[in-house]
Amino acid sequence: MPELPEVETIARGVDKRIRGDRIARVWFANHPQPFKTPRTQQAKGLAGRTILGVHRTGKHIVFELGAADGRDSTAPEAQWIVHLGMTGRLLVTTPDGSVAQHTHARVELTSGRELRFVDSRRFGRLEFRDLRRGPKFGAPGGEPLTIRASEFAALFRGRRLCIKAALLNQTLLAGVGNIYADESLFQAGIRPRRRANRVTCAELERLRLALLKTLTHAIQLGGSSVSDYVDADGERGFFQLEHCVYQRTGEPCHRCKTPIRRIVVAGRGTHYCPKCQR
Ligand SMILES: [Zn+2]
Repeated sequence: MPELPEVETIARGVDKRIRGDRIARVWFANHPQPFKTPRTQQAKGLAGRTILGVHRTGKHIVFELGAADGRDSTAPEAQWIVHLGMTGRLLVTTPDGSVAQHTHARVELTSGRELRFVDSRRFGRLEFRDLRRGPKFGAPGGEPLTIRASEFAALFRGRRLCIKAALLNQTLLAGVGNIYADESLFQAGIRPRRRANRVTCAELERLRLALLKTLTHAIQLGGSSVSDYVDADGERGFFQLEHCVYQRTGEPCHRCKTPIRRIVVAGRGTHYCPKCQR
């Protein structure tokens, strides 16, 4: 499943390729999924609009769109929101490029390119929002790349659940997945099972910085493989990070050589160093 750095990298890659382009026509497959807004409504809503920019919010890719009649507008008047789910991919190609199985959407652009949404397991979601009729899209949780220290600390205050579960709670922080939760807790020296309300302010600040560093590093690595993700077949994977604890059960800790342990927290496999994390 794509995590925040992958989604960020894909959003940047798509933005770089199609910002300023205009949507000529949209075709949707006849499957019940993955449409959060009915497909006829989406196709009608999208046509004719200029793509003002593409960015990530939480684990969603948000297309900011101009006016429906194509007149110049710098303020977005609509949004197309893509959630990749487990297996969703966005491809930038040309209309004559072979159509992959499980292609749910083909967005024809006036430049002659085509944006496609392919999703074999159909956990992805596509949504259209007309901003003159309703609010713009917002992910419920805080944004880990930009949240301030005081806001970050406030998220965990008074919470009795363990810190790892709190990190994965998307209503607290948007987009933090299992790998980056484990890696950040290791960097910050905090045991995953500690209760959130028992983690000190100094530790929380270490955690915020570790999360920021881990995610930023992954985005930088991902930047070099983005073409594989959004062009051509899109089958190639994301740059593999050198993990410190994640899925290294029994292997020696990079810092102290103690074997990495695996436990289950909030239903998720959780990896930590019993010596470096307290
Ligand atoms: Zn260690």
